Order: sequence, then structure tokens, then C-alpha cells
Amino acid sequence: MAAEHPNAQDEIALTTAAPAAESAMESDASESAQTSARTKTNTKKNAKPPAKAPVKASDKLAKLGLRKDMDFILHLPMRYEDETQILSMREASLRGGSQVQIEGVVTAADVQYRPRRQLVVTLSDDSDQVTLRFLNFYGSQTKQLAIGTRVRARGELRHGFLGAELVHPNYKIVNEGAPLPNALTPVYPSGEGVPQALLRKAISNAIERVHWRDTLSAARLASLQLCGFETAVRTLHHPPPDIDQHSLMEHEHPAWLRMKFDELLAQQLSLKRAQLTRRSKGAPAMPVVGELSNAFLINLPFALTGAQEKVLAEIRADMRQDYPMQRLLQGDVGSGKTIVAALAAAQAIDNGFQAALMAPTEILAEQHFRKIAAWLEPLGVKTAWLTGSLKKKEKDQANAMISSGEAQLVIGTHALIQDSVQFANLGLVLVDEQHRFGVGQRLNLANKAVAGKVPHQLMMSATPIPRTLAMTYFADLEVSVIDELPPGRTPIVTRVIDQNRRDEVIARVHAAAQEGKQVYWVCPLIEESETLQLQTATDTHMMLAAALPGIQVGLVHGRLKPAEKQTVMDDFIHQRSQVLVATTVIEVGVDVPNASLMVIEHAERFGLSQLHQLRGRVGRGAAASVCLLLYQGPLGGTAKQRLATMRESNDGFEIARKDLELRGPGEFLGARQSGEAMLRFANLETDQWLVEKARNLAQELLKHDPVTVAAHLERWLGNKEEFLRV
Ligand code: ADP
Ligand code: MG
Repeated sequence: MAAEHPNAQDEIALTTAAPAAESAMESDASESAQTSARTKTNTKKNAKPPAKAPVKASDKLAKLGLRKDMDFILHLPMRYEDETQILSMREASLRGGSQVQIEGVVTAADVQYRPRRQLVVTLSDDSDQVTLRFLNFYGSQTKQLAIGTRVRARGELRHGFLGAELVHPNYKIVNEGAPLPNALTPVYPSGEGVPQALLRKAISNAIERVHWRDTLSAARLASLQLCGFETAVRTLHHPPPDIDQHSLMEHEHPAWLRMKFDELLAQQLSLKRAQLTRRSKGAPAMPVVGELSNAFLINLPFALTGAQEKVLAEIRADMRQDYPMQRLLQGDVGSGKTIVAALAAAQAIDNGFQAALMAPTEILAEQHFRKIAAWLEPLGVKTAWLTGSLKKKEKDQANAMISSGEAQLVIGTHALIQDSVQFANLGLVLVDEQHRFGVGQRLNLANKAVAGKVPHQLMMSATPIPRTLAMTYFADLEVSVIDELPPGRTPIVTRVIDQNRRDEVIARVHAAAQEGKQVYWVCPLIEESETLQLQTATDTHMMLAAALPGIQVGLVHGRLKPAEKQTVMDDFIHQRSQVLVATTVIEVGVDVPNASLMVIEHAERFGLSQLHQLRGRVGRGAAASVCLLLYQGPLGGTAKQRLATMRESNDGFEIARKDLELRGPGEFLGARQSGEAMLRFANLETDQWLVEKARNLAQELLKHDPVTVAAHLERWLGNKEEFLRV
């Protein structure tokens, strides 16, 4: 029945399906008639043994995380139903598509067999009649809904073959004049076998039993313009009849604001506390901006942008401290994060410490290695290179350099965090594209500290995280933003093109290559099958090689051996090939300034941030760049919006905001490193102002009011996990 009936879990179905335990829970006077009706049918039909109700119920509730009184109190309704009014059937018939409640007497009841077995009941009042239709029903229901029975029914009114009807309505048998509830009925998030009636009762009991104590003083509430906790709780569980229903439903009512604020406050407290714990650990202070740093800057072929200067100053200030820096460096693709990271490394080296740079892919690590080594080695810096694909002998060699301290800068993939790697005096950890690593991986590297000191950490990300998210997900991180691109870049022009016009696109690629421009051709993402993805890339490569006579076409994908990959990339970098067919392996970090045309096939399959990352591979030089997004129609609504966003915006932050809107925060960052699962009521998009208030208060409480901090966290987290485990 549950599968057929959309409301089956929301509402205790008042039929024989309800176990005896539930009828025992019913206490409302208005339902007593129906309760006895149900009990009777139960006895007749099922003759169930008396249920072991109390034990079972509490187990089921515990499964929903409901154990202590406060758990129940914070189990807030997901929506409300209005059972306070009964419409005449005539009135109800005029409201197709909306929820109605009607009451009348059964004037006909039949089991029909066409088009399929169903119970069809006609309910009449003085004004009209409405059909109740049950596609799944118990034999006992046919008896229960006998002619002459008075029934109160609620559901969505539709106009069917027989006129106005309710399909699978919630209903109860009532006596004439049975009172109506005078408040909206809360509908709670529930699980299998946990009827609403059970939740309502258990929550009401908890509300009456608990000892009320507000974690926020009256003065604080007044200045925050928030209502009291008890008032908020009572209002949300038992909304008064005259409440502004709209604001209640939309989570805008003051009662909701208070609960959302409390939830955000708990999150901020938890995150800030993690930050304080981190600060209590020692890190090597690196006060000197020395010879290496200065020589490096002088030798750079360009001047730092204002934004780069600003973030560098923030990073240097952190590294001067004797507690670990934990900073996220955000900057749109191409904004020049690498040079900033290299300058941070130079500072560590200036102060006699080792620095390590970890990148998520071998291609990216390799690029960093070549680039940074080219900057620093001429200045006398010893570097080491470590990835999983090194031969044992090379690995041993690298490890020896790292453990002896000979290597001042180590660059590599996550091979860097393996236990076999021992640093002599690691002082700074740089993590590129940090959103691709889990928090755990990041930490493993931090644990490679020496002499009880934790290294400073700088994480880089081109996935711009909107401010609210940064504040909630990364509240324990400081954030630096490079909000300016190096000068001389022309914005990328993006076009969205039906793939039927592929021939025109190929002609365009041909023309560009002949002019000496370089082109990326990105193959479609095929999530279900890596083999298929590889096949597609190979086919595309052959197709393009044939279609572009006289043009060198390279192919790079994830299955190539590192050396092969390197050869292909080198050919492209040194312009020995003009077109590079690639899978998404080029998504991050590849930097070939001469490439100015990108074609992305089946762009509709990619996510927004992925498209933005891919597109960021062009537009890195002075040449005007173009990105062609090929799609296969028809496009779904979200895909259409994604492509339109790409066409209209080059701004990573704007795109990230849109991405967040389209996908929601959980998916946006991956639940792995988010506290998202813990936010039940607050909405990071619409409640930004509450986040800011909560953040400010959290700071103040942590400084001056540990008792309140403890009480508030106990209330909201109890024995649950921390919002973010660091
Ligand atoms: P991302 O932030 O995406 O990692 P990169 O660090 O790869 O960006 O920088 C993109 C390109 O811009 C590189 O070729 C880099 O050398 C160049 N670049 C970085 N900073 C500047 C600057 N201040 N002036 C000119 N070019 C710069
Ligand atoms: Mg980069």
C-alpha cells in the first residue's frame, strides 16, 4: 500500500492496516469514534496478538535518531496540513488540484474491476457528491465504508471520469458534529513503520516533560530580535489557529528563524571550536622573508597583480605565527595561484624548513614540478619529485632526499602522504585543487610533522565557494581570494552549438590550427563506463586525424602510462601538435597559453564547475579565445540552464553561485567534507544573514561564555557527530 499511496508515510492511514499500537496512541476526542471502528475491524480481521508496542515504538524512534526529549523537540515538522476546515462538496469540486477536506455520508460503495480492481465510494453532502477511489485496499475497508457511514476525507481534488474525486484520500469515520482540530496539523519526517500519530504523541510528551531553559539570555534575544526557544518550539509543533500560515510553511515565521539561528549557531560553535583546537597546536614560526623570496620576485618576468600581493601578505602573516596556518586560497582558473604557492614555499625554505606541494593528478603535479623547479632551481633550491608511478629505485632516491632534508621542496601526488615518506623538517604543506582531496588525506600530510609541530597548510581551489558556504563549510579555514586576473587576458567567448553542426565545428578547428592556434577537443564524459569513454576518445582522435589532413592531432586520456602522457603533453606544449583530443584528465591545471580554442562534446553531460574548469584551459594567453559547447538535444531544463550560464558568464563566482542553486550545497562540495548533512532547517542560500549573526555570536560566546557554549552544543549536537570533523 505504501508504494501506491503518496501520503502513506505522512499520515496514519486510518484503515485496518494500522497496527494496534497506533490506535492505542490515539487520544484526540475527535478521533475516538474512528478508533473504536478500527479496533473492531482489527479484531475481526487480523486477530493480531496484543502488540509489544512500547518496546517496538521506541526502537523505531531511536532509528530516526530520536532518544532524548530534546531529540524529539528538535524533530520539527517538514510541513503542515490544514484540517481545520471542511469544505462543502460543491465548494471542493471547484478546487481541482488543491488539498481539500470534505465530510459526508457514504451513498454508494463498490468494488469495481475495470480497468483494475478498486474500491469506489461515493460520498455525499447537501451540496454535491465526491468519489473516493482506492486502488489498494483491504477487505475490511469495504465493510468499514458501508453505506450510511459518515466519513471525513482529505486529499487532492481531481476531476476524473466520474466527476470530482479523491484518489487514496486520508479519511476517518466520524460522528456528526465531531470537532475539528483548531490548529494546523504538523507532518513530521518519518521512517518506515513510524506513523505520524506516534511521532505527534511522543513529541507532545517530550514538550510537556522537558525542563525549559533558553540557551540565549533575554537580552541577547532582544538584540538579535529572536523569540524564546520554548515559544518557538511550541509554535512549530502546535501552530495556533490564527498563525500566518504562509510564513509558517515558508520557514519565515519568527519561530522558524529562532530554530534556524540556533542550528547555525551550533554549527558555527562546533567549527570555531575545531579551529581553536587546531590553534592550540604549535607550528614552526617563519618570520623571515629572506634572500630566496626576494631573488625569486626580482627574477619573475611579470609583476604580481594587486590581488596576488594581497593574498601573499595574508599568507606571510599566517606563516609568521607559531600556530598552524590553515588557509584556503581561492582564485578563478588562470588567476595565478601557482606563483603565490611558490612564494609561500620560498618563505618556508628561507626559514630553513621543507615545503611539500601535493596535486590531485600526475599531469598537474608534473606541470607544477616543471614550472616551479624552473623558477626555484636556478636560485639554488633542491627539489624532489614523488609520485606513485616512479620506479622503486627512483622512489628510494626521492625518499632519501626527503628524509635527509636535502630536498627543500617536494612536489608530487598523494604518494606524498604514504607512511614510507618521512620528512626531515616539514614546515609547509601546499595542496592544489584541494576540493579533490578528502579532509583525511590532507591531514595525513599534516601529521608528517616533526618535533610535535604541525606544518602550516595552504589549500588552493579554483572552485570558488560562495561566501555563505565558505563560512559554514570552512569556518575553520581562513580564506584568501585572488579576485583579479593577470592583465592582458581577453574574455573567452562561449557558444552553444547543436552537435548536428559538428562539420562546421571541425572546419573551424581546421582553420584555427592552420593559423597556428592550438585547440583542445574534449571528449564526452561517460560516467557509467570508463572503457566506453576511452573508446570514444580513441574514435574521436581517429576521426579528427582523418578530417584534418596536415594537422598533428594528439590524444591524452587517463589510461596512458605517465611517460606516454608526458610525451603527448610535451608535443602539445612545444607546438609539435596543434590539436589535443582529451578526456577530462585535462580538467585541472593544464597550462598551455597558446591554446585558444576549445571544443567540448556532449557538454550537457558535464556539471557547471567542471565546464568552467575545462574552459579555463583556454584564455590563458593574449589571444582571444573561444569555447564551443556541443550538445545533443533535446536538453532538459537544468542542462539548458547550465549551458546558458556558461554562455553568459566567465566569472567563476557567478558560475559557482548558479551551480549551488542548481545542485544544492551537499552535492556542490561533496558530503565528505561538508557539515551539510547536519543542517536540517537552515538554508545556506536564503539564510545568509542568519549565518552572519550566528557567526558573530559564536565568536563572542567562545570568548566570554563557555557555559552557554557547552549548553548549546549539548542541545543541538548531543551525542551526534561534530559538524565537521577536523
Ligand atoms: P591558476 O590560478 O589557475 O592555478 P596559474 O597559476 O596556472 O593559474 O596561472 C595562469 C597563468 O598566468 C600562468 O601561465 C602564469 O604564469 C600566469 N601568471 C600568473 N601570475 C601572473 C601575473 N601577475 N602576470 C602575468 N601572468 C601571470
Ligand atoms: Mg592551478
